[in-house]
Amino acid sequence: MSKKIFLSPPHMGKNELKYIKKVFESNYIAPLGEYVDKFEESIVNYTGAKYALAVNSGTSAIHLALRVLGIKEGDDVLVSTFTFIGSVAPVLYQRANPIFIDSDESWQLSPKLLKEYLQNCKKKPKALIVTHLYGMSTDIEQIADICKEFDIYLIEDAAESLGATYDGKHTGTFGDFGIYSFNGNKILTTSGGGMLVSNNQEWIEKARFLSTQAKEPYLYYEHKEYGYNYRMSNVLAAIGIGQMEVLKKRVNKKRKIFSWYEKFLKDIEEIDFMPELENSRGTRWLTTLTFDKTNPIDIINALQKHNIESRPLWKPMHIQPLFLGYKAVTDKTSASLFKKGICLPSGTRLKKEDIKKICDVIKDNLSQGNTI
Ligand SMILES: *Cc1c(COP(=O)(O)O)cnc(C)c1O
Repeated sequence: MSKKIFLSPPHMGKNELKYIKKVFESNYIAPLGEYVDKFEESIVNYTGAKYALAVNSGTSAIHLALRVLGIKEGDDVLVSTFTFIGSVAPVLYQRANPIFIDSDESWQLSPKLLKEYLQNCKKKPKALIVTHLYGMSTDIEQIADICKEFDIYLIEDAAESLGATYDGKHTGTFGDFGIYSFNGNKILTTSGGGMLVSNNQEWIEKARFLSTQAKEPYLYYEHKEYGYNYRMSNVLAAIGIGQMEVLKKRVNKKRKIFSWYEKFLKDIEEIDFMPELENSRGTRWLTTLTFDKTNPIDIINALQKHNIESRPLWKPMHIQPLFLGYKAVTDKTSASLFKKGICLPSGTRLKKEDIKKICDVIKDNLSQGNTI
């Protein structure tokens, strides 16, 4: 059996281990320390967000944003339905109600459906959590304008899109808050971790306070409200610093991989790749595409036989058993993408020959005219 090709495995650079060693030498193994501060600084410098808070996951970062914005029981929060559960679960942590907004032909949240809902709803939602999907930017300027017009907070879930820009500006920096994830399969990984960013210093300081058990600034332990144990460890932040040094390279390699897939599959009429919006530059974190005739599950199984990992697209949240009974604004776009789509191996160590091999397996297993 040939070596397994994973969907999007970690890819360490030259310096991560060296920085971990420095942490060990300093004995600042305990959470917090110099590298946590450096990692926050480095995200600020790279993205252009004014303030950053390193935490233990992207999901925690979203949760902190909701807490700081005062989202509470009974509040309505609009969310992208075509996303990963980590984007939405924090709404439930706050006992608020997610309301799911469908995608448009860009695969991303539909500004049109968003606006229609806001024009017609009887109860004003408090916030929107919009996901930048698969490393690509949403139509974020338009979405930010709509949120301003209707006076709702905007949280950008840029977990998958660190390195992507819209109009030259980084995803995650348009809204009131942005978050990034450093989970194992993301373009930058610390094995697990996340970052909350904002231009509002007071909010980031409040989030910092909540993320360290909401300890009041006294010598003894004094608590007026409850917080969380959400901070990132200094050891993992050291990995993050090393990864930041190679991020640009990784983005370019992900885009290269996408261009190889495009090249090898361009003659297949039933295949459509996820679009890239005009004015934006995505990272192509995962190369994703849809089939018009072939059942993607057949392709996934065929690739599996060659020890190649691939996955269906996200199953939309509004059709998850967990969310039956919740409101959804949908024209069935994301449900249809889910049925037709696939995520292909996009690890940044892959070579052109690997992509060719994957494409050959796909071509050998296309449907012979059956419709799904
Ligand atoms: C990965 C991811 C998250 C969650 O990040 P974690 O760091 O794993 O908690 C949230 N939203 C989206 C869209 C993601 O892909």
